Amino acid sequence: MSDIIQLLPDHVANQIAAGEVVQRPASVVKELMENAIDANATTIKLLIKDAGKTLVQVIDNGSGMSVTDARLSFERHATSKIRSAEDLFQLHTKGFRGEALASIAAIAHVELKTKQEKDEVGTQIVIEGSDVVSQDIVVTPSGTSIAVKNLFFNIPARRNFLKSNQVETRHIIDEFHRVALAHPNIHFVMYHNGGEVFNLPESNYRQRIVNIFGSKTNEKLVPVNEETEVVKISGFVGKPEYAKKTRGEQYFFVNNRFIKSAYLNHAISSAFDGLLKDGTHASYFLNLNVNPQTIDINIHPTKTEIKFDDEHTLYAILRASVKHSLGQFNIAPVLDFER
Ligand code: ADP
Ligand code: MG
Repeated sequence: MSDIIQLLPDHVANQIAAGEVVQRPASVVKELMENAIDANATTIKLLIKDAGKTLVQVIDNGSGMSVTDARLSFERHATSKIRSAEDLFQLHTKGFRGEALASIAAIAHVELKTKQEKDEVGTQIVIEGSDVVSQDIVVTPSGTSIAVKNLFFNIPARRNFLKSNQVETRHIIDEFHRVALAHPNIHFVMYHNGGEVFNLPESNYRQRIVNIFGSKTNEKLVPVNEETEVVKISGFVGKPEYAKKTRGEQYFFVNNRFIKSAYLNHAISSAFDGLLKDGTHASYFLNLNVNPQTIDINIHPTKTEIKFDDEHTLYAILRASVKHSLGQFNIAPVLDFER
Protein backbone atom coordinates (compact mmCIF):
# COMPACT_ATOMS: atom_id res chain seq x y z
CA MET A 1 0.00 0.00 0.00
CA SER A 2 1.48 3.35 -1.00
CA ASP A 3 1.58 6.39 1.25
CA ILE A 4 -1.50 8.54 1.03
CA ILE A 5 -0.98 11.38 3.49
CA GLN A 6 -0.10 14.82 2.09
CA LEU A 7 0.36 18.24 3.60
CA LEU A 8 -2.47 20.53 2.51
CA PRO A 9 -1.43 23.41 0.24
CA ASP A 10 -1.29 26.73 2.13
CA HIS A 11 -4.32 28.23 0.43
CA VAL A 12 -6.44 25.24 1.44
CA ALA A 13 -5.17 25.37 5.02
CA ASN A 14 -5.91 29.09 5.08
CA GLN A 15 -9.44 28.55 3.81
CA ILE A 16 -10.06 26.01 6.53
CA ALA A 17 -8.68 28.34 9.20
CA ALA A 18 -10.85 31.11 7.76
CA GLY A 19 -13.89 29.02 8.53
CA GLU A 20 -13.11 29.40 12.21
CA VAL A 21 -11.89 32.98 12.31
CA VAL A 22 -14.29 34.59 9.83
CA GLN A 23 -17.95 33.82 10.29
CA ARG A 24 -19.30 37.05 8.85
CA PRO A 25 -18.29 40.61 7.92
CA ALA A 26 -18.32 41.54 11.63
CA SER A 27 -15.48 39.06 12.24
CA VAL A 28 -13.37 40.95 9.71
CA VAL A 29 -14.23 44.21 11.44
CA LYS A 30 -13.05 42.78 14.75
CA GLU A 31 -9.78 41.41 13.41
CA LEU A 32 -8.83 44.54 11.46
CA MET A 33 -9.71 46.90 14.29
CA GLU A 34 -7.74 44.82 16.76
CA ASN A 35 -4.72 44.90 14.48
CA ALA A 36 -5.00 48.69 14.31
CA ILE A 37 -5.07 48.86 18.11
CA ASP A 38 -2.05 46.58 18.38
CA ALA A 39 -0.27 48.94 15.97
CA ASN A 40 -0.83 51.73 18.55
CA ALA A 41 -3.16 53.74 16.35
CA THR A 42 -4.75 56.79 17.95
CA THR A 43 -7.37 57.20 15.22
CA ILE A 44 -9.18 54.26 13.61
CA LYS A 45 -11.70 54.59 10.80
CA LEU A 46 -14.07 51.83 9.81
CA LEU A 47 -15.73 51.98 6.39
CA ILE A 48 -18.50 49.58 5.51
CA LYS A 49 -20.48 49.03 2.34
CA ASP A 50 -23.62 46.90 2.11
CA ALA A 51 -23.32 45.62 5.67
CA GLY A 52 -19.73 44.62 4.97
CA LYS A 53 -20.70 42.23 2.19
CA THR A 54 -19.13 44.49 -0.43
CA LEU A 55 -16.50 46.26 1.66
CA VAL A 56 -14.96 46.30 5.11
CA GLN A 57 -12.10 48.75 5.35
CA VAL A 58 -10.09 49.85 8.36
CA ILE A 59 -7.74 52.81 8.16
CA ASP A 60 -5.38 53.50 11.03
CA ASN A 61 -2.57 55.91 11.86
CA GLY A 62 -0.54 53.27 13.66
CA SER A 63 2.97 51.92 13.17
CA GLY A 64 2.56 50.77 9.58
CA MET A 65 4.64 47.92 8.14
CA SER A 66 7.90 47.58 6.27
CA VAL A 67 7.83 46.17 2.72
CA THR A 68 8.85 42.71 3.92
CA ASP A 69 6.44 42.69 6.84
CA ALA A 70 3.61 43.82 4.59
CA ARG A 71 4.08 40.71 2.47
CA LEU A 72 4.68 38.43 5.46
CA SER A 73 1.59 39.63 7.31
CA PHE A 74 -0.54 37.46 5.00
CA GLU A 75 1.34 34.27 5.78
CA ARG A 76 -0.27 31.91 8.23
CA HIS A 77 1.23 31.89 11.75
CA ALA A 78 3.14 35.02 10.85
CA THR A 79 3.01 37.46 13.75
CA SER A 80 5.07 40.23 15.30
CA LYS A 81 3.28 39.81 18.62
CA ILE A 82 4.68 36.68 20.20
CA ARG A 83 7.95 34.86 19.78
CA SER A 84 7.61 31.89 22.11
CA ALA A 85 5.04 29.81 23.97
CA GLU A 86 5.90 31.67 27.19
CA ASP A 87 4.74 34.90 25.58
CA LEU A 88 1.24 33.42 25.49
CA PHE A 89 1.04 33.97 29.22
CA GLN A 90 2.06 37.59 29.20
CA LEU A 91 0.01 38.91 26.31
CA HIS A 92 -0.31 42.63 25.93
CA THR A 93 -1.75 42.57 22.43
CA LYS A 94 -5.11 41.61 20.99
CA GLY A 95 -3.60 39.35 18.35
CA PHE A 96 -1.03 36.61 18.61
CA ARG A 97 -2.20 33.75 16.41
CA GLY A 98 -1.00 35.26 13.16
CA GLU A 99 -4.02 33.83 11.41
CA ALA A 100 -6.42 36.66 10.72
CA LEU A 101 -4.91 38.26 7.64
CA ALA A 102 -4.00 34.91 6.08
CA SER A 103 -7.55 33.68 6.67
CA ILE A 104 -9.23 36.81 5.38
CA ALA A 105 -7.02 36.91 2.28
CA ALA A 106 -7.99 33.31 1.52
CA ILE A 107 -11.68 34.17 1.18
CA ALA A 108 -11.83 37.74 -0.08
CA HIS A 109 -10.21 40.40 -2.26
CA VAL A 110 -7.81 42.29 -0.05
CA GLU A 111 -6.01 45.55 -0.68
CA LEU A 112 -3.36 46.62 1.81
CA LYS A 113 -1.66 50.00 1.91
CA THR A 114 0.84 50.62 4.60
CA LYS A 115 3.68 52.98 5.45
CA GLN A 116 5.94 53.49 8.41
CA GLU A 117 6.50 57.01 9.66
CA LYS A 118 10.22 56.89 8.86
CA ASP A 119 9.65 55.90 5.22
CA GLU A 120 8.99 58.21 2.30
CA VAL A 121 6.74 55.82 0.43
CA GLY A 122 4.64 52.84 1.37
CA THR A 123 3.65 49.43 0.09
CA GLN A 124 0.49 48.33 -1.64
CA ILE A 125 -0.41 44.68 -1.93
CA VAL A 126 -3.45 43.19 -3.62
CA ILE A 127 -4.37 39.60 -2.76
CA GLU A 128 -7.31 37.59 -4.08
CA GLY A 129 -8.03 34.23 -2.54
CA SER A 130 -4.47 33.86 -1.20
CA ASP A 131 -2.93 34.77 -4.59
CA VAL A 132 -0.80 37.90 -4.65
CA VAL A 133 -2.10 39.90 -7.62
CA SER A 134 0.28 42.82 -7.28
CA GLN A 135 2.77 44.51 -5.01
CA ASP A 136 3.73 48.13 -5.61
CA ILE A 137 5.28 51.18 -4.08
CA VAL A 138 2.63 53.81 -3.27
CA VAL A 139 2.32 57.25 -1.82
CA THR A 140 0.14 56.79 1.25
CA PRO A 141 -0.13 58.35 4.72
CA SER A 142 1.71 56.73 7.64
CA GLY A 143 -0.30 53.89 9.06
CA THR A 144 -2.25 51.08 7.48
CA SER A 145 -5.37 50.72 5.38
CA ILE A 146 -6.80 47.28 4.72
CA ALA A 147 -9.80 46.95 2.43
CA VAL A 148 -11.58 43.61 2.35
CA LYS A 149 -13.92 43.27 -0.61
CA ASN A 150 -16.36 40.58 -1.70
CA LEU A 151 -16.07 38.42 1.38
CA PHE A 152 -16.58 34.70 0.71
CA PHE A 153 -16.41 35.30 -3.08
CA ASN A 154 -14.97 31.79 -3.45
CA ILE A 155 -17.21 30.06 -0.89
CA PRO A 156 -20.76 30.49 -2.23
CA ALA A 157 -22.26 28.44 0.58
CA ARG A 158 -20.88 30.86 3.14
CA ARG A 159 -21.90 33.89 1.15
CA ASN A 160 -25.44 32.61 0.83
CA PHE A 161 -25.49 31.90 4.53
CA LEU A 162 -25.03 35.59 5.35
CA LYS A 163 -28.09 37.22 6.87
CA SER A 164 -29.93 40.36 5.74
CA ASN A 165 -28.01 43.64 5.62
CA GLN A 166 -29.85 44.74 8.71
CA VAL A 167 -28.69 41.72 10.71
CA GLU A 168 -25.11 41.84 9.45
CA THR A 169 -24.93 45.57 10.18
CA ARG A 170 -26.14 44.87 13.71
CA HIS A 171 -23.29 42.41 14.20
CA ILE A 172 -20.79 44.94 12.88
CA ILE A 173 -22.06 47.66 15.18
CA ASP A 174 -21.91 45.27 18.15
CA GLU A 175 -18.29 44.53 17.32
CA PHE A 176 -17.54 48.23 16.83
CA HIS A 177 -19.09 49.04 20.22
CA ARG A 178 -17.05 46.38 21.95
CA VAL A 179 -13.77 47.61 20.56
CA ALA A 180 -14.65 51.28 21.09
CA LEU A 181 -15.71 50.67 24.70
CA ALA A 182 -12.48 48.82 25.44
CA HIS A 183 -10.42 51.76 24.16
CA PRO A 184 -11.92 55.16 25.06
CA ASN A 185 -8.47 56.70 24.55
CA ILE A 186 -8.69 56.01 20.79
CA HIS A 187 -10.68 58.12 18.33
CA PHE A 188 -13.04 55.87 16.32
CA VAL A 189 -15.12 56.79 13.30
CA MET A 190 -17.51 54.52 11.44
CA TYR A 191 -19.07 55.13 8.01
CA HIS A 192 -21.71 53.00 6.32
CA ASN A 193 -22.27 53.47 2.58
CA GLY A 194 -20.50 56.80 2.81
CA GLY A 195 -22.49 58.20 5.74
CA GLU A 196 -21.01 58.76 9.18
CA VAL A 197 -22.61 56.44 11.75
CA PHE A 198 -20.37 57.07 14.77
CA ASN A 199 -17.71 59.60 15.58
CA LEU A 200 -16.25 58.90 19.00
CA PRO A 201 -13.52 61.32 20.02
CA GLU A 202 -10.89 60.29 22.54
CA SER A 203 -12.49 60.57 25.98
CA ASN A 204 -12.84 59.02 29.42
CA TYR A 205 -14.83 55.83 29.91
CA ARG A 206 -18.09 57.41 31.08
CA GLN A 207 -18.07 59.82 28.16
CA ARG A 208 -17.38 56.99 25.70
CA ILE A 209 -20.39 55.05 27.00
CA VAL A 210 -22.56 58.15 26.72
CA ASN A 211 -21.29 58.92 23.21
CA ILE A 212 -22.27 55.44 22.11
CA PHE A 213 -25.54 54.89 23.94
CA GLY A 214 -26.86 58.44 24.19
CA SER A 215 -26.88 61.26 26.73
CA LYS A 216 -29.70 59.71 28.79
CA THR A 217 -27.26 56.93 29.72
CA ASN A 218 -25.22 59.30 31.88
CA GLU A 219 -27.69 59.46 34.78
CA LYS A 220 -28.12 55.72 34.95
CA LEU A 221 -24.48 54.81 35.51
CA VAL A 222 -23.33 53.71 38.96
CA PRO A 223 -19.53 53.57 39.28
CA VAL A 224 -17.92 50.33 40.37
CA ASN A 225 -14.32 50.40 41.56
CA GLU A 226 -12.43 47.76 43.45
CA GLU A 227 -8.80 46.82 43.75
CA THR A 228 -7.64 43.51 45.16
CA GLU A 229 -4.63 41.31 44.57
CA VAL A 230 -6.57 39.15 42.15
CA VAL A 231 -8.32 41.79 40.08
CA LYS A 232 -8.77 45.50 39.59
CA ILE A 233 -12.37 46.28 38.67
CA SER A 234 -13.50 49.57 37.17
CA GLY A 235 -16.53 50.68 35.24
CA PHE A 236 -20.24 51.06 35.74
CA VAL A 237 -23.44 49.18 36.28
CA GLY A 238 -26.82 50.55 35.19
CA LYS A 239 -29.24 51.57 37.93
CA PRO A 240 -31.90 48.88 38.39
CA GLU A 241 -34.77 51.12 37.29
CA TYR A 242 -33.17 51.34 33.85
CA ALA A 243 -32.89 47.59 33.44
CA LYS A 244 -34.18 46.37 30.10
CA LYS A 245 -35.92 43.31 28.77
CA THR A 246 -33.02 42.63 26.42
CA ARG A 247 -29.50 41.73 27.40
CA GLY A 248 -28.05 44.34 25.04
CA GLU A 249 -25.79 46.46 27.20
CA GLN A 250 -23.74 43.89 29.06
CA TYR A 251 -20.01 44.23 28.66
CA PHE A 252 -17.11 42.56 30.37
CA PHE A 253 -13.62 43.51 29.33
CA VAL A 254 -10.66 41.58 30.62
CA ASN A 255 -7.41 43.45 30.08
CA ASN A 256 -9.19 45.56 27.44
CA ARG A 257 -10.57 42.57 25.60
CA PHE A 258 -14.33 42.01 25.31
CA ILE A 259 -15.26 38.61 26.67
CA LYS A 260 -18.39 36.57 27.19
CA SER A 261 -18.87 34.75 30.46
CA ALA A 262 -22.16 33.30 31.62
CA TYR A 263 -20.53 32.62 34.98
CA LEU A 264 -19.43 36.20 35.65
CA ASN A 265 -22.72 37.46 34.27
CA HIS A 266 -24.35 35.47 37.01
CA ALA A 267 -22.18 37.24 39.59
CA ILE A 268 -23.72 40.52 38.44
CA SER A 269 -27.29 39.31 38.27
CA SER A 270 -26.98 37.87 41.74
CA ALA A 271 -25.61 41.20 43.02
CA PHE A 272 -28.81 42.73 41.64
CA ASP A 273 -30.92 40.09 43.32
CA GLY A 274 -34.23 41.58 44.46
CA LEU A 275 -33.58 44.89 42.71
CA LEU A 276 -34.80 44.06 39.23
CA LYS A 277 -38.27 43.63 37.86
CA ASP A 278 -38.91 40.13 36.59
CA GLY A 279 -37.66 39.53 33.10
CA THR A 280 -35.32 42.52 33.00
CA HIS A 281 -31.53 42.48 32.85
CA ALA A 282 -29.03 44.79 34.45
CA SER A 283 -26.71 46.63 32.12
CA TYR A 284 -23.01 46.78 32.92
CA PHE A 285 -19.76 48.06 31.49
CA LEU A 286 -17.03 46.48 33.57
CA ASN A 287 -13.31 46.29 33.10
CA LEU A 288 -11.45 43.55 34.90
CA ASN A 289 -7.72 43.93 35.00
CA VAL A 290 -5.90 40.77 35.94
CA ASN A 291 -2.37 39.49 35.75
CA PRO A 292 -2.05 38.05 32.20
CA GLN A 293 -0.42 34.98 33.72
CA THR A 294 -3.68 34.07 35.46
CA ILE A 295 -5.75 33.77 32.27
CA ASP A 296 -5.72 31.66 29.12
CA ILE A 297 -7.07 33.44 26.06
CA ASN A 298 -6.05 30.75 23.65
CA ILE A 299 -9.07 28.50 24.03
CA HIS A 300 -11.05 29.86 21.08
CA PRO A 301 -9.95 31.39 17.74
CA THR A 302 -12.11 34.48 18.17
CA LYS A 303 -10.82 34.87 21.74
CA THR A 304 -14.18 35.89 23.23
CA GLU A 305 -14.03 33.18 25.84
CA ILE A 306 -11.14 33.01 28.23
CA LYS A 307 -10.18 30.77 31.09
CA PHE A 308 -9.39 32.20 34.51
CA ASP A 309 -7.17 30.39 36.98
CA ASP A 310 -9.42 31.30 39.86
CA GLU A 311 -12.90 31.96 38.55
CA HIS A 312 -14.56 31.48 41.93
CA THR A 313 -12.62 34.23 43.66
CA LEU A 314 -13.25 36.56 40.75
CA TYR A 315 -16.96 35.81 40.97
CA ALA A 316 -17.04 36.60 44.69
CA ILE A 317 -15.11 39.86 44.34
CA LEU A 318 -17.21 41.00 41.40
CA ARG A 319 -20.47 40.25 43.13
CA ALA A 320 -19.39 41.98 46.35
CA SER A 321 -18.11 45.11 44.64
CA VAL A 322 -21.24 45.53 42.52
CA LYS A 323 -23.40 45.02 45.60
CA HIS A 324 -21.32 47.57 47.45
CA SER A 325 -21.70 50.14 44.68
CA LEU A 326 -25.44 49.62 44.47
CA GLY A 327 -25.65 49.98 48.25
CA GLN A 328 -23.68 53.23 48.22
CA PHE A 329 -26.19 54.70 45.85
CA ASN A 330 -28.94 53.82 48.32
CA ILE A 331 -30.72 51.54 45.98
CA ALA A 332 -33.18 49.60 48.07
CA PRO A 333 -34.89 46.43 46.90
CA VAL A 334 -38.12 47.06 45.03
CA LEU A 335 -41.04 46.20 47.24
CA ASP A 336 -43.29 43.39 46.19
CA PHE A 337 -46.29 45.58 45.40
CA GLU A 338 -44.17 47.63 43.06
CA ARG A 339 -43.36 44.70 40.85
P1 ADP B 1 -1.84 38.67 14.65
O1 ADP B 1 -2.62 39.92 14.89
O2 ADP B 1 -2.36 37.52 15.45
O3 ADP B 1 -0.36 38.87 14.80
P2 ADP B 1 -2.73 38.99 11.90
O4 ADP B 1 -2.88 38.01 10.80
O5 ADP B 1 -3.95 39.72 12.34
O6 ADP B 1 -2.08 38.21 13.13
O7 ADP B 1 -1.63 40.05 11.50
C1 ADP B 1 -0.33 39.60 11.15
C2 ADP B 1 0.73 40.66 11.41
O8 ADP B 1 0.55 41.73 10.49
C3 ADP B 1 0.66 41.29 12.79
O9 ADP B 1 1.37 40.53 13.76
C4 ADP B 1 1.29 42.66 12.53
O10 ADP B 1 2.70 42.59 12.63
C5 ADP B 1 0.92 42.96 11.09
N1 ADP B 1 -0.24 43.86 11.00
C6 ADP B 1 -1.51 43.51 10.73
N2 ADP B 1 -2.34 44.59 10.72
C7 ADP B 1 -1.55 45.67 10.97
C8 ADP B 1 -1.80 47.08 11.11
N3 ADP B 1 -3.02 47.61 10.97
N4 ADP B 1 -0.72 47.89 11.36
C9 ADP B 1 0.53 47.38 11.51
N5 ADP B 1 0.82 46.05 11.40
C10 ADP B 1 -0.20 45.20 11.14
MG1 MG C 1 -4.60 40.21 14.33
